Amino acid sequence: MIRISVTDKEKLDPEAMKSFAARKMGIDPVLIVSATLKKLSLDARKKDDIRYVYGIDIEAANEEKILKKCRIKNATKVTQVVYKDPLTICPENGSDLGNKGDSIGRCGNSLIMRDGINRPVIVGFGPAGMICAYKLAAAGLKPIVLERGSDVDKRVSDVERFFETGKLFVNSNVQFGEGGAGTFSDGKLNTMIHDSFGRIAHVFDILVEFGADPSIRYINKPHIGTDRLTVIVKNIRERVISLGGEVRFNSIFTGFEHKDGRIGAAIVNGAERIPCDTIVLATGHSARDTVRMLLSEGVEMEKKPFAMGVRVEHPQELISRAMYGSDYRKYPPADYKLTYKTTDGRGVYSFCMCPGGVVVNASSQEGRLCVNGMSYSRRDEATANSAIVVEIRESDLDGDDILAGMKFQERLEEKAFEACDGKIPVCYVKDFLEGHESTDMDGRKPNTRGAFAPADLYAILPELITGPIKEALPSFDRTIKGFAGDEAIMLAVESRTSSPVRIVRDPETLCAKGFLGLYPCGEGAGYAGGITSAAVDGLKVYEAVIKRLCTNEA
Ligand SMILES: Cc1cc2nc3c(=O)[nH]c(=O)nc-3n(C[C@H](O)[C@H](O)[C@H](O)COP(=O)(O)OP(=O)(O)OC[C@H]3O[C@@H](n4cnc5c(N)ncnc54)[C@H](O)[C@@H]3O)c2cc1C
Repeated sequence: MIRISVTDKEKLDPEAMKSFAARKMGIDPVLIVSATLKKLSLDARKKDDIRYVYGIDIEAANEEKILKKCRIKNATKVTQVVYKDPLTICPENGSDLGNKGDSIGRCGNSLIMRDGINRPVIVGFGPAGMICAYKLAAAGLKPIVLERGSDVDKRVSDVERFFETGKLFVNSNVQFGEGGAGTFSDGKLNTMIHDSFGRIAHVFDILVEFGADPSIRYINKPHIGTDRLTVIVKNIRERVISLGGEVRFNSIFTGFEHKDGRIGAAIVNGAERIPCDTIVLATGHSARDTVRMLLSEGVEMEKKPFAMGVRVEHPQELISRAMYGSDYRKYPPADYKLTYKTTDGRGVYSFCMCPGGVVVNASSQEGRLCVNGMSYSRRDEATANSAIVVEIRESDLDGDDILAGMKFQERLEEKAFEACDGKIPVCYVKDFLEGHESTDMDGRKPNTRGAFAPADLYAILPELITGPIKEALPSFDRTIKGFAGDEAIMLAVESRTSSPVRIVRDPETLCAKGFLGLYPCGEGAGYAGGITSAAVDGLKVYEAVIKRLCTNEA
């Protein structure tokens, strides 16, 4: 396979890659067997010469010869990495699995569960839990999914009602419910994780199989959008059920039984007992009650650095004009990535930027308020928003309390809630930089889902956060003209960027230390940040469960 990277002013269809690649390489198209668009991005560094960048994989008859005469300097030979499902390691019909072979075996692409083998329990139906549950169901293991929130249809109406009335459903909201935190989001799928096993591509294949646009496979910063995510989530659920799995809503995992370091059962809603020897904990970064329960059960955890701050909002036109120049209307709504280091070396950066999106009240606890961003697949709102967050270090938090970060989040969310009696506290960036509150929002109004009110953000956020943001804004304004101008609005508090704790897990078995069969997974466990990396961690845990079941390891 030959990979080339070429540019063009025009946006071309994936079907046009063969003739396009041949023209760019200066070879006869008949020599090309196939040309696959692998990466499409927009290079807007030169505003007067904005170009689409195409990464194309070419299969050709005589690749060595073509490489020699091809006029593209960056043309290279590549080997495609294909995801290898661990099921293949499971011996046919359990032949050499000793006594365990009696209860499990493989037949073709799925496992045969015989009497006595317990169904795995998956806690949480967010990206991590969904991918893990789907893969275990496809492997024939009939998983039982426990989701504390409602099914996505009910959840959508609960969230809409919360946005309109402020009445919060503590288990069915922007954080909790079918699809997890990612459902009411921009559904950005870009990730920084390193992947040499083809897991990301495999996750994207699954998302496409259940309804995502195939362009997520090659678009540089793919996104799905809330309107499409709700459909995809439902399709995955229905497939898990059709494969013999179960998805239980309004089912809170409240405890578990363990003996001699092995899992024995999961407890649901404080009452029901489900015998099992596998529990996948994919509960996300907002399941604070579950984290406290696990800690009280002796599950080892450690503090993890995280970030907190505000969300800022601008007219999308201002951002697109700054990023693309006067021709900005020709291109999709622009996004941005900003970073800054304060004089004392603390990082301030933009996070989860939502072009053509809205700011949402993303609260999940009574009396606590946090914000986040969301877009629909068309990204056609007139506003753009992003979190501007400050890194919070372990040394910023009190003493040795593992939950110090979580308590810090809770304190600021309480202040944000109290500041405007549950409405989203907002302030013009200009007023914030002048060191005072906005007394009214008579100028441009923020585009929020959930009520807002003018507030003094200095009364909510500590100097640890306001200081670095105040220092960074002028620099961001130099990068994006108007970033700290009259039209910029700040909304508080952005507190759920990632989990402030990590559940310690054995790197080999992926089980929690000292609890064989308990699999901390995804963002809540501290092993992911974002939809794609959470889904990939769900896949890793699926592999670990299969490996454990199919080998004599445990
Ligand atoms: C508004 C918003 C916008 C976002 N936008 C993006 C984006 O554009 N791109 C991106 O990559 N990331 C985005 N994120 C982050 C992303 O959603 C998360 O990183 C991702 O969803 C983490 O996946 P997860 O499966 O680990 O956990 P989650 O998605 O949080 O899912 C955990 C699930 O577990 C359930 N649960 C929790 N406790 C229990 C319990 N005790 N019993 C039973 N069920 C339980 C919850 O109800 C939830 O459904 C956004 C987040 C929010 C809130």
